[in-house]
Amino acid sequence: MQLANHHAHSCYSDGRLTPLDYLENALSQGLMTYGFSDHAPIDYEGIGAMTAEQLPEYLREVDRLKEDYRAKIEIYKGLEVDYIPDVISMKSQHIVDAELDYLIGAVHFVGNFPGGTPFSFEHSIENFERGILEIYAGDIKQMLRTYYGLIQDMVRLYEPDIVAHLDRIKKWNNNEKYFSEKADWYQNEIIETLEVIASTNCILEVNTKGYYRNETLEPYPGKWALRQARDMEIPVHLSSDAHHPDDITKGFVYGVEMLKEVGYKTYHILREGTWQPQPFLERKVYPV
Ligand SMILES: [Zn+2]
Ligand SMILES: [Zn+2]
Repeated sequence: MQLANHHAHSCYSDGRLTPLDYLENALSQGLMTYGFSDHAPIDYEGIGAMTAEQLPEYLREVDRLKEDYRAKIEIYKGLEVDYIPDVISMKSQHIVDAELDYLIGAVHFVGNFPGGTPFSFEHSIENFERGILEIYAGDIKQMLRTYYGLIQDMVRLYEPDIVAHLDRIKKWNNNEKYFSEKADWYQNEIIETLEVIASTNCILEVNTKGYYRNETLEPYPGKWALRQARDMEIPVHLSSDAHHPDDITKGFVYGVEMLKEVGYKTYHILREGTWQPQPFLERKVYPV
């Protein structure tokens, strides 16, 4: 059994229950490798990230679990780190000092409201609409271009191990409410971003959270983007972005099916300290 998940949030950030609760669930599902990746501290109020004061405690707790469970499961110490120009990156001092096993790089903030409040596009649909209106003068193209531009800069400048949820910006776009995901200009943004990823050692995450939470019909990124990624031979990693221990492998059956359908033969997981390609297992092994 080689099941793995390396993207999850405990009570140290915006997830529920403790790292140990996640680990117990990982063990009961027979996972052989597991990674903790709570949101890294950012100097913003009320955004669900851990505080700077919590960071050393989190790192100690993961180290302790690593030691205690060494014989049963490989454990890796990570963080999901935002890229916000001049605010936080994978090279911020507190991130470097944390001596992590891996980093997930993510973009959740796309500019600031007039007055300076940072704009999280995923916070709520009202906030999403307000951001487009107040920051981008109602021009959603501009917002989307800024979003993909930030991911490209993050990948070029900081090469995180994993590039999180590539097209999460479509979170509120069911039935193409705000923009056409098939429009040339939009697909070009994705292709350009994938080309940047392909020129680095980054691994593209296939994140099942939107799918099992019924936000979207597909994982992030969707099938079209994954097909382009496969053509560019970009390695992928499957993760659930769990915010509850029950969710650590949710959506993996569908994720694996989609990866196979677009032509992937392997996905990358952390084993023995390095990211390694892993063949897909038989369907029955993956919980729904
Ligand atoms: Zn995220
Ligand atoms: Zn996450």
